[in-house]
Amino acid sequence: MGKVLGTGSFGRVYYARHTATGTVCAIKALSKSQVLKNGQLQHLKEEKNILSNVDNAFLIRLLGSFQDKDCVYLVMEFVPGGEFFTHLRIAGRFSESTTKFYAAQVCASFEYLHSMSIVYRDLKPENMLLDKKGDLKITDFGFAKVIKRRTFTLCGTPDYLAPEIILNRGHALAVDWWAFGVLIYEMLAGYPPFYDDDPMKTYKKILAGKLEFPSHLSAVAKDLIKKLLQGDLTRRLGNLAGGVSDIKNHAFFKDIDWPRICSKQLRAPIVPLVTSQDDTSNFDDYSNLPPMVHNTCLSSTEQMLFQDF
Ligand code: AMP
Repeated sequence: MGKVLGTGSFGRVYYARHTATGTVCAIKALSKSQVLKNGQLQHLKEEKNILSNVDNAFLIRLLGSFQDKDCVYLVMEFVPGGEFFTHLRIAGRFSESTTKFYAAQVCASFEYLHSMSIVYRDLKPENMLLDKKGDLKITDFGFAKVIKRRTFTLCGTPDYLAPEIILNRGHALAVDWWAFGVLIYEMLAGYPPFYDDDPMKTYKKILAGKLEFPSHLSAVAKDLIKKLLQGDLTRRLGNLAGGVSDIKNHAFFKDIDWPRICSKQLRAPIVPLVTSQDDTSNFDDYSNLPPMVHNTCLSSTEQMLFQDF
């Protein structure tokens, strides 16, 4: 395996090239002992099952999986343009038209996932990658779940958590529309709406729900964000009788051609510099990272838990 592209909670993502075929891919290596220690086996199984079943232009494609005694490996298409997070930090903030383009791609992917009763639960700029043309690919399905009714697990990233997750009152698909509102705010402002270095204070701000907007935000952008960052689930856009259509028909998206967004026919506003299919320069340099250590020897019963991979 080649260069490390990124690190996650229980492992790393590596760039790799198949020597015989020349095919490039990204391999997510997850430490079995870490997964078990943190009670994440069910999430990992869910991640693999969901990735095996989804097929959408804006979602990462799983090519296969394998394992050895220490790790489970998920083999994915390699997305060379780097994290959306990096592009956003370089730009500081995005214009309304750039924001609209990427928000529309996220909205289309959530419409698809929700139609399969899949809640994503981890929207944030770090989990959004750009392909070589600048279109989005959402990665990391570690918290995604097929939900039949409400679910109760506390997961996600503090700044992007919906109030109902923090309150542990049970949550469903609408948490993704809350996170979508946070993302639109962060793209336009350059920082998230509810933030503190201390996660407990972030949660307090989310529950207080007080929104302050930078003066450059347009009235339509503010209106959409307010309707998404709505603590009252009976009033949150996307969770009302009109479903996702209420979001797509909002004035903020007035000039968005949805069929052309979904078929990726529009030119992306950010086109990353990618010089070859092996180019990993859009990712941070992790060359100083020590190798992964696996000092726990799993029993055969524990190994059996991974038989599906
Ligand atoms: P994850 O553990 O899935 O959150 O991935 C950690 C990081 O690895 C991401 O934030 C990306 O920077 C990188 N990454 C994940 N999947 C891919 C991929 N398919 N292609 C390129 N980079 C990836």
